[in-house]
Amino acid sequence: MDCIFCKIINNELPSCKIYEDEEFLAILDIMPINYGHTLIIPKAHFKHILDMPESYAENIYKIVKKLSQAIKEALKCDGLNIIQNVEKAGGQEVFHSHLHIIPRYLDDAFKLNLSKKRYENNNAMQIVAEKISQYL
Ligand code: 5GP
Ligand code: ZN
Repeated sequence: MDCIFCKIINNELPSCKIYEDEEFLAILDIMPINYGHTLIIPKAHFKHILDMPESYAENIYKIVKKLSQAIKEALKCDGLNIIQNVEKAGGQEVFHSHLHIIPRYLDDAFKLNLSKKRYENNNAMQIVAEKISQYL
């Protein structure tokens, strides 16, 4: 399979590793939003979180917490973004599931929430909540 993250996991391509266990690898993103921008990647190939078995989805958050604490302490950042981009519409470019931990500073220029909407009214909001709940 021609997957850049599988090649990194199999050591066919170089990477800057910061954490590894049986299930996951964490590496520095090659084009960081800020220095220390980290990717947590399951070693098995899944397209994104919706494709991952539940146990992986649970286990990944233990690693997220451990790495987030280490990044915050090491880099003295003011905050973090913990993000997974899902599918093209969600900004996903590498279709091997991964989660971003991005160190953030009060004075950095990166903005995630540039174009927020408002619900027409409370009823419109309630309808959306009920629609989602039906699938749980
Ligand atoms: P996505 O948009 O799919 O959520 O993010 C993919 C991320 O992978 C991007 O932030 C991009 O900079 C990073 N990336 C792409 N190719 C490589 C690579 O070869 N090595 C590393 N370390 N990161 C990569
Ligand atoms: Zn892969």
